[in-house]
Amino acid sequence: MAHDLVIRNGTVIDGTGSPGFQADVAVEGEKITAIGKNLGPGKKEIDAKGHVVAPGFIDSHTHMDAFVVQYPHGNPVVNHGVTTIIIGDCGASCAPVPQKAEPRQVLVQYLRRVLDKYVDDKDWKWNTYADYLNYIEGKIAVNVAPLMPHSPVRLTVMGEAAYAREANPEEVDAMKKMVREGMELGAIGFSTSPRGGPAIHAGTPSTFATHDEIIQLANVAAEFNGCFQFNGFQMMLQPDSGVPAMLEKIRATQIGNEFRQRPGEKANASKAIAFMEQAQKRGQDIYGVVIPYTHIRRFTVNDCFFLNGLPTWEAIKNSADLRQQLQNKDIRRKLEEERIAAAGKPEFPEWHGWRRVVFEHIEKPELKKLEQRNVEEIARITEKAPVDAFFDTWLEDDLRSRCVYYGLANAHQELLGEMIKSDTGLIGTDVGAHLDRFFWHGAPTKVLGHWRREKNLFGLEEAVHKLTGFPAEKLRLNRGLLKEGMPADITVFDADKIDDLVSKQLPDIIDAQEVMRHPPGMKAVVVNGATVVEEGHCNDVFPGKVRRQQLSKAN
Ligand SMILES: [Zn+2]
Repeated sequence: MAHDLVIRNGTVIDGTGSPGFQADVAVEGEKITAIGKNLGPGKKEIDAKGHVVAPGFIDSHTHMDAFVVQYPHGNPVVNHGVTTIIIGDCGASCAPVPQKAEPRQVLVQYLRRVLDKYVDDKDWKWNTYADYLNYIEGKIAVNVAPLMPHSPVRLTVMGEAAYAREANPEEVDAMKKMVREGMELGAIGFSTSPRGGPAIHAGTPSTFATHDEIIQLANVAAEFNGCFQFNGFQMMLQPDSGVPAMLEKIRATQIGNEFRQRPGEKANASKAIAFMEQAQKRGQDIYGVVIPYTHIRRFTVNDCFFLNGLPTWEAIKNSADLRQQLQNKDIRRKLEEERIAAAGKPEFPEWHGWRRVVFEHIEKPELKKLEQRNVEEIARITEKAPVDAFFDTWLEDDLRSRCVYYGLANAHQELLGEMIKSDTGLIGTDVGAHLDRFFWHGAPTKVLGHWRREKNLFGLEEAVHKLTGFPAEKLRLNRGLLKEGMPADITVFDADKIDDLVSKQLPDIIDAQEVMRHPPGMKAVVVNGATVVEEGHCNDVFPGKVRRQQLSKAN
């Protein structure tokens, strides 16, 4: 009898971190049934000669809640080998939908702010959380592990009061009931944005909750062996925030977002690792989501964030003779002095030298040779000081150039490597949020290409473990290992070619075209036994599971 699928002649890296070995992998239905030499024929066969055969990758942090409806193939992350995504992060999701008009609009506006403008409640063909899971079930190519999101729950239970005050005991009970129902339906945990976190979440319903409300709701998830996800990660280092004390009272696995090096707070990254390691020793199961990229920010003359706020820039930026002012060497010197003095203070980026500023797009044809070059390179080519190379190039292009600043956060590469390697770090993409600025959809292929192959941060087996067995264990998913009897979530890739695309050339925006783009080196992706990606193309099959009962170990 032929197997349903045989992946032949590859190097099997099983996700545990142990050494790879040559073998075939056979699949029947949704499960891996045999791993060994010379397995019999398959109704379908994939030739993996020269390729790695590994478990599918787990994306520990996404905002793909509305994205999966728009892109049911699981783009863009499926192209990069992801077979399971977490959704409902940061207490924000498109379900449950509040029934009252104003609270519903508050939710839509919140999602437009923290996800992006594409969110539109006209697309919501559901009301309750049950409706939403029923709607996506059977229609998605990747596994979707949903969190129960605090703000929609609060809006549904409390209406307008959700964004005006603390909840009374009856309201807390009603929210606990709703979270319990969500967990019974298949959520893998509870998520929130507590007060004091990132400014973009300020004023949202969950920020009106007391820590006691959050503890009570998270501990409902804990009863189901679920997890607790929160943002405002750095508050765990601030006892005054109350967050460390809150976390101590939560019995669920805790996942903080985002674990990053913030400008001017380099030391905090090491402190955060030490804090989590200490907490883990005390039995608190706590992790931080690491996005394996240096954060970038684009700027133009109209939004020149690295000069905004400097007195000299504020005085000249709207003046009619801005060009003349920028020709003036004294003005340039003043801007440099002010920028250096402000660097690393709140609202100002750290400064890591002019090599971190790149002329991404130049209008004038005769200047095109400087495009994609950093300012230090341009300084060498033009034989000028970097500051003059920057302003002169900008002026010669009539201030129309678009530049990129690399290093708004996660600026220190070695430290970012430590965060990625640490047993406190879970790799995530944040896909579905800020499509014009966050180009992290290739996080797994970035780990395998840039960090493993180019930077030699770790060996192939360890890199695969970081993306598979490790997050599966921490999130308690029955995934992440290539073993007989395990669900057949599999990637087949060329370890010498795999690359995230984004590192070499930033896209303009994550639009439909970027979402569909396939990185080099990914030969096939299998979800629950069905081949969803093959040779740079997504098949129209939708085998993803959407409920904890099918995705979790603990049932
Ligand atoms: Zn988030």
